[in-house]
Amino acid sequence: MMQSHSKPVPVADIDTKPFWDYCKKRELRVQKCLKCGKLHYPPNSICPNCLNMGSEWVKLSGKGQVYSFIVVHRRYHPAFAAEIPYVVAIIETEEGIRMLSNVIGCKPDAVKIGMPVEVVYEDVSPEFTLPKFKPTI
Ligand code: ZN
Repeated sequence: MMQSHSKPVPVADIDTKPFWDYCKKRELRVQKCLKCGKLHYPPNSICPNCLNMGSEWVKLSGKGQVYSFIVVHRRYHPAFAAEIPYVVAIIETEEGIRMLSNVIGCKPDAVKIGMPVEVVYEDVSPEFTLPKFKPTI
């Protein structure tokens, strides 16, 4: 009998829930500190730059480049078996935010450091939409 496996999904908490809710609305947003004005990510109630507690959620352009990446050839989780090989990358957005994500929409050996990418959204459950990145044409 075939056993089905579902992929793990993020666990949202009081700090990260707004991020995921914006993703569901197809918006990539990060926090901007109300005191020092710096953007920060991952979501946190305290600014890592000045330790201020107040922030607002600002919208990113969704464009960036591949800062670093690996190609996964091994099956680390059964739910990802059909996708091997796939790319796990750190994307640096135009605004300087670095995010862990996947590069999709091209062959893994086409991915290069510095390659321009833009965000695409993948609905993985009723609660979660993941921001992923594809090459900018
Ligand atoms: Zn700050």
